[in-house]
This record gives sequence, C-alpha cells and structure tokens, in this order.
Amino acid sequence: MKVHMQILIALGLGIKRNWHIFFGIIAGIIVGIYLHSHANIVISNILTFVGQVFIRLIQMVVIPLVVSAIIIGITSIGDNKQLGKFGTKMVLYYGIITTIAVIIGGVLALIIKPGLGAAHYITEHTAVSVQAAVATAMEQQQGNVLNLFLGFIPNNPLHSFAAGDMVPIIVFVLIFAIALAKVGDVNRPIVSFFESVFAATMKITDWIMFFAAPGVFALTASAVSSFGIDIFMSISKYLGVLLVGFAIQMFVVYPLFLRFFSKVSAAMLFSAIAEAMMVAFGTASSSATLPLTIACCEKRGISHRISSFVLPLGATLNFDGTALLQTVAVIFLAQAYGIVLNPFLLIQIGLLAIIASSTCAGIPGAGLITIALILNGMGLSPEQLVAGFAFLFTIERITDMFRTLLNVTSDAVVTAAIADNENEINYDLLNNPAAYEEIA
Ligand code: ASP
Repeated sequence: MKVHMQILIALGLGIKRNWHIFFGIIAGIIVGIYLHSHANIVISNILTFVGQVFIRLIQMVVIPLVVSAIIIGITSIGDNKQLGKFGTKMVLYYGIITTIAVIIGGVLALIIKPGLGAAHYITEHTAVSVQAAVATAMEQQQGNVLNLFLGFIPNNPLHSFAAGDMVPIIVFVLIFAIALAKVGDVNRPIVSFFESVFAATMKITDWIMFFAAPGVFALTASAVSSFGIDIFMSISKYLGVLLVGFAIQMFVVYPLFLRFFSKVSAAMLFSAIAEAMMVAFGTASSSATLPLTIACCEKRGISHRISSFVLPLGATLNFDGTALLQTVAVIFLAQAYGIVLNPFLLIQIGLLAIIASSTCAGIPGAGLITIALILNGMGLSPEQLVAGFAFLFTIERITDMFRTLLNVTSDAVVTAAIADNENEINYDLLNNPAAYEEIA
C-alpha cells in the first residue's frame, strides 16, 4: 500500500477512534451558531467554565509529566560516553528538523498573511494596547538580548516550578537528570520515584481525555457563539497555511533529511511506523503513542539501544509540528493585532518557537498553551489576546492531530538517521516488503 494511502487510512481511523471528540466539535459549532443569534448569558458562562476546566486540567499535569519523562529518558541511557555521543547528535538532528519547520511556517505565514482576515474582529483599543506592550518589550530587549537567555537559567528552581516557568524548569531538570545519570546506581530511589510520577501522570492524562469531548464542545461553542459561522471563513487561510506547511515538512523535508544524513528510505520508514502515525493522529498525544513508536521501529530493525533512548527524548523534547504551528499562530496573532513584524521580532519568534515547542509535553493541547512562552518574550500575555486565541481554539483539535502526526514521525526519522550512522539498523528488516505488508 502506498504511503499516501496509509496516511489517508490514518485519517479515517483516527476520526473513527475519536468520533466522540469530532461529535463534540460538530455539536459545538451547531450550538455556537444558535447561541450567536439567541444570546444566553447563563449558557455562555457554563460553556466558558467547562472549557476552562478542560484547559486547566491539561495544564495541571504538564510539569510533573515533563519532569519525570526527562529524568527517566536521560537516566535510562546507560554509560556516560554514550550519553555524550548520542546526546550531541540527537540534539543536532532534532534542532535541524525543528528549525526547518519554523522557517517553513514563518515564510508561509508572512506570504499568505492568514491573520489579516481576523483583524476586523479585534477592537482598535485592544490592538493599540497590545502594540504598545510589544513595542516596550522590544525596546528593552533590543538593548540586551542576552538578558532573555539569562532568564532561562533559574536562580531558584523552586520559584520556577511555582511560577510554571517552563524554560528554566527544563534547564534545571536537564542538568539534574544528567547528574543523576552520572552518579550511577545510587540514583535508583529517585529514578524509581519519577517512574511512579510518570506512570501516575499518564494515568491522570487518560482520565482528562474522558473530558476531551465536552471540553472541546464547550470551547468550540463559546468561540463560534461569540463570532458566528463566518469565523471559519477567516480561519480557513490559517488552516490552509498550516496544512501546506505540514505537508512540505512530511513529504519534502523528512525524505530529504533521511537522504542527506542516512541511507534510510522515507517510504520504508513511513510504512514501518504507519501504525504509530495513525495512533498519533487519533490520540493527538506523542507520549501516548511512544510505546507503539518504539515497537514499530524495533520490529523493523532499528536497535533497541538507539530507539529506547532517542524516541523517548524525542517524545519529550522534539515537537517540530508544534513549532511550525506556534510560528504560524504567533504571526497570525501579530497580523490580527497590527503588530509590526520587524526582522528582530521575527528572529525572536523563531527562536522562542524552537524553545517553546521543546518545552511542550506530548499531550493534546499542550502546544497551544506553551505559546504563552513566545508571547511572554514579546511582552504579551494570552489574556491580552483572548479574541485572537478564540480563533485559534476553534480548530485547535484538528491542527493538534496533524502536528502530533509530524512530531511522532520526526522522532522516528531522527532515530532512524542516528541508527543508520551508528550501524544499528537491520536493513533486511527495514526494507522487507513482507514485514511492510504485515504493518500495512
Ligand atoms: N499534542 C502534541 C503532541 O503530543 C503536542 C501539542 O499540543 O502540540 O505531540
């Protein structure tokens, strides 16, 4: 079966498995349209409440999940030399793939300008105050870009945890995890503790997902009721930019990356991980898909040594699909609010998208939440941009499914490239059409 057919099947199965969430979206659109013409303040308040409960529940598990996943991933590598060797190559490859995603998203958003259609929904007063906040932040930062990076090093990690500052948290956890990996067996109690934390937070995530359908319903209904159906006309350009960007990354960048850095054939790799791709699309969670991604890669000849190290860290730190979306979303917001996008600001958005995406957790919705980090860097907070965010939320779930598909695929692409470089691929298995048929 051809790769594009498998991707189409992934779409069908994903929708079938998550029919209740799709039902939530459709019902949300219908109820939202009704409420747009028959305003009811009580129902609107209830919908806002339910949507907020869903968002807060997801936010609640992000820190314990990310912290425990990084600690487990890094301490599971084994000896110190391996950590340095694979670690450097992994960061380089993941960095390259995410940087390309950000550039593709940025260029497409600047050419197609998806945010202009949304501008007339933003009141002039809000736009002016948002523009002023960005101008002030830029003035301060242009004087001292280094301060931005200084802020990434936490002088009090507990304070960063309490404030939910993701970048300093990750910096601290990475250093802590590498130290734990270096101290040997004495790390067992702490590692076991974080294994329990990880298992429990994954369980909580499962429970939160029961709430996904009403949560998405409420968010969609609130958004549609405040804007009406014509929101989809304004948002269609945004969705179009994203889909084109995702397709370029999937069908052009990944195959070229594999050709440049390895002997792996993209079609064979895509066929090997087709099942994981389908589950990624259906669940919109890289973490939930991880066991299957590892199983698919190992079944088709990528060694356990490489896949058990590179894939978990990828599922924790590599979110190129998310980075592409975040870049497009922030440029969309900037265009909608009339913020002037000078080269300094664009470079800052790009760099922050790389960092924000890698601080994201592999759970549904996390990518749109970590956008706050990019906005912080621009001197803004999501609350100031509520009207703009409401647009993005209307199609959040569908974009999440696509970006997670990319996140998981790129984890496998980088893993395959490293396995090739280290002579850790059994090509007889990878290129074996019989094994291919089994998965397809
Ligand atoms: N859902 C994505 C993932 O699990 C993360 C995101 O929200 O962008 O990979």
